[in-house]
Amino acid sequence: HYLFLSVCIRRFSFCILYGNLCKKKSNKYQIPTHMNVLIKYRTHPFWLQKYCPSHEVDGTPRCCSCERMEPRESRYVLLDDGRKLCLECLDSAVMDTNECQPLYLEIQEFYEGLNMKVEQQVPLLLVERQALNEAMEGEKTGHHHLPETRGLCLSEEQTVSTILRRPRMTGNKIMEMITEPYRLTRRCEVTAILILYGLPRLLTGSILAHEMMHAWLQLKGYRTLTPDIEEGICQVLAHLWIESEIMAGSGSNTASTSSSSSSSTSSKKGGRSQFERKLGDFFKHQTESDTSVAYGDGFRAGNRVVQQYGLKRTLEHIRLTRTLPF
Ligand SMILES: [Zn+2]
Ligand SMILES: [Zn+2]
Repeated sequence: HYLFLSVCIRRFSFCILYGNLCKKKSNKYQIPTHMNVLIKYRTHPFWLQKYCPSHEVDGTPRCCSCERMEPRESRYVLLDDGRKLCLECLDSAVMDTNECQPLYLEIQEFYEGLNMKVEQQVPLLLVERQALNEAMEGEKTGHHHLPETRGLCLSEEQTVSTILRRPRMTGNKIMEMITEPYRLTRRCEVTAILILYGLPRLLTGSILAHEMMHAWLQLKGYRTLTPDIEEGICQVLAHLWIESEIMAGSGSNTASTSSSSSSSTSSKKGGRSQFERKLGDFFKHQTESDTSVAYGDGFRAGNRVVQQYGLKRTLEHIRLTRTLPF
């Protein structure tokens, strides 16, 4: 890909040739004709945001949710664990444990709609990145995780630092994080589900749907599945939930599956912004195009058999053989 440097969303000091660019009537910057230079650029595969390759290594912030680079004209919000969030993702971000409970209920209803009700009361806690990493180390049986873990399904008794109250925004920084130690006690095989705070509702929900599936598998006695099968089927559920949310369109309701369209008319938060719809498509795209073996290949294999045999038969086959049906 070659293009004039002018299209870079960051077009400023990092773009070394910026000073040589002139502004045309078209309101686009172009390299003067006497400089016969073409410059390489990269394009984000989903957002189509164009930027100089150098921004991938020069510390240009990216939104931890949508991955878009911070453009010159806007400033992202800095979360207290170092993550950056764009203002559009911040718009629907779930910030504390309480705020997440209605979404948790929606995910529980979603599982019920699939005839996969989780009977046990599993606490759901929103946590900071550090608390999530510590909890992960406290687990005896190591599940496999993405390089950047955003959710966990715990089975050990441990104490977790949970986010009690929505943090305050000061300028572009999140301040005054109120956390509280929460002691997990074992009532069943699963002691808690932890989710990273500060992510948009749709992403939080899909991570939750994923972790709920780990809990479901654990509670239903599915043991020692290979990572690609377990993570793959968890991603299938996350993907199903996102799809049902996209299908539900403007309202946020709980359609039972992607195929049996929306049945609920309970409008909760009114309309969904255009960006949120686009964000839903992005998370779906991200799941489908993941390059990792466990999450990516696992999802694609799981999704294929679920399309072919249905979720119920696929899960039954996994339970009996610990493999996917052919
Ligand atoms: Zn974002
Ligand atoms: Zn997982």
